[in-house]
Amino acid sequence: MENRPPSGISNSSFIRSRNTASRRFTIDTSRAKSNQYVVSLCSKKIGIIEYPDGRSDKQPCDVYWHNVVLSDMNKIVTSPQSRVNKFPGMTELAKKISLTHSISSMQKLFPDEYAFYPNSWFLPAHLADFHAFYRKAQALGKTEMWFIVKPDEGAQGTGIYLINSPNQIRNVDQRQLVQEYVADPLLMNDKLKFDFRVYGVIKSINPLSIYVAREGMARFCTEKYEKPDSSNFKNLYAHLTNYSLNKANEAYVHSNTLQDQTRGSKRLLSTVFHQLESRGVKTKRLWHDIKLILVKTTLAMLPEIMLHYEHHFYDSTGPQCFQIMGFDVMIREDGTPILLEVNAAPSLTADHIVPHPGRTLLEGGQRVRSIVDEVIKIPLVRDTLLLVLGLMEEEYQNNSLKGETKSLDDMQTIKQRRKPHLSEIFPTRYGAHSGHLLFLDKAMYIYMQFVQLRSNVNITNAGLKQFVRKCNLIDIIPVVHVDAKVSEINYYFTGEKRTNGNGLPFHAFLMFLFFIAEKKFVLENDLLSKVQRLLSFCDMSLRRYGVRSARLRRAEVDSTIGNVEIYMLPSRMARNRSGTNGRKQNFTDDNNNPNSFAHLPKINERL
Ligand code: ADP
Repeated sequence: MENRPPSGISNSSFIRSRNTASRRFTIDTSRAKSNQYVVSLCSKKIGIIEYPDGRSDKQPCDVYWHNVVLSDMNKIVTSPQSRVNKFPGMTELAKKISLTHSISSMQKLFPDEYAFYPNSWFLPAHLADFHAFYRKAQALGKTEMWFIVKPDEGAQGTGIYLINSPNQIRNVDQRQLVQEYVADPLLMNDKLKFDFRVYGVIKSINPLSIYVAREGMARFCTEKYEKPDSSNFKNLYAHLTNYSLNKANEAYVHSNTLQDQTRGSKRLLSTVFHQLESRGVKTKRLWHDIKLILVKTTLAMLPEIMLHYEHHFYDSTGPQCFQIMGFDVMIREDGTPILLEVNAAPSLTADHIVPHPGRTLLEGGQRVRSIVDEVIKIPLVRDTLLLVLGLMEEEYQNNSLKGETKSLDDMQTIKQRRKPHLSEIFPTRYGAHSGHLLFLDKAMYIYMQFVQLRSNVNITNAGLKQFVRKCNLIDIIPVVHVDAKVSEINYYFTGEKRTNGNGLPFHAFLMFLFFIAEKKFVLENDLLSKVQRLLSFCDMSLRRYGVRSARLRRAEVDSTIGNVEIYMLPSRMARNRSGTNGRKQNFTDDNNNPNSFAHLPKINERL
């Protein structure tokens, strides 16, 4: 595709002076693959020098853009000043089963706050639990229940089917996810089911900063929805909203203009919000709830994002990672949003294949620009680049009529045009709503003390035994019983009957913690209080080894947003302190807080 200015965005809105920058920023797009077109276009428009084949002079670039998470990222991105658009380990963490593990840990601790994710069972390990749930629901008179079965590695709707009894699962030994089917989706007048792809950007984890894009996508089914029954449950065109599936249906409505997308199979989120508003849906409330889902889901994934970063950049200061994430959200009839899945590599292509006139896609088609994709993805990538390069303020505060006298109309136009596409939702805006959910970081910090982070992100049996000993928990679980407990938990997590020596992943360690907390603090009312007590107990026990997990996070006061808690990885703070990341050597952190580092133990000082 040639580099034309995208529809809906005038070229002039990009043209800006870079007076403030003493040099021009650089971007390496040699591994951007399918993201290349949009990323190059945006880089050009905001004046970043692009290296499509990488830099031959071996100098680091300011930004590296990859289409997937690369396992050797630390060899490619070596300067701590660089930013890279992927977090190590994120592909795995966003997969259905990993995501379910992260969210279900949070559901156990904060059941009401995480009710936005459907009940899910990981097969084969949770088959008995699934049967038990089914029997209990039947006994309570719920006879019309439907479930959706998804393969773990699946994408684009492949391998998915609906069932209404556990006996219909096709291969119970296969790794897959069974999920309660949300059978009451909100429908438009056309009776088509739809879901939203909402884009979030994790700008950094240290400190944690999350943004949402104000434009997204709505994907429609191509056949009318009816509650599942034995006659229609196989009709995936009515039940699954995936573009890749529905585009093959003759009824798929391709859109060529911003006007005709209002009836298309792929619409702008803002269009559908208008349509919903006219049907009486309170869209402000809906958008608020969706943004909270983005924040809560990221918080659920955060401890492991942090862990993988520490593992991957073990020996180095590490670059600033950021990532665009796609959150798939559907809406219930009563207006409640439900999270379906998280995509760590949402498509950033801005073209699509449309059938030749009078033909179907099965007979081939031609690749053309997709207006809807351009309007969503180009501002998304442009703002993401501006954001990570620290240019957002400059971009949106300057205006293109500098020096001229401005009329009120001009000002109005400027105001409309200069509205950022991305806005921060954490810690600004939703920090106060969700700060208490930043809870598992303490558990993660304790976990990290017992993991050989250089080589592993899992905790071995030996590590767990050390944990039990050092935290004085042998009265709850004698060390000789640890192996048996590990086998039990391991099966629940991996589906493997035998432990393969790889150790337990973090959320499996949490199950171990929950088990101990239940036994040790029986008098506490709920699991959260029990785990809180246990973490404090471990904290106290580890003090004599110099570990202070409470230092992992601290309150930061910002007059514009109030008192917010931010994450700081202890090891990163220690490195900043020694000045190894190229900053001048003083005792301030990324937020210029001079008091962050006193007495922090380095995380790699093993117990
Ligand atoms: P994939 O990664 O294969 O796209 P998803 O989990 O996104 O898998 O599911 C595909 C589609 O199935 C979703 O876009 C949605 O339309 C539908 N779907 C998935 N889970 C549910 C559910 N629990 N309830 C109702 N519909 C669902």
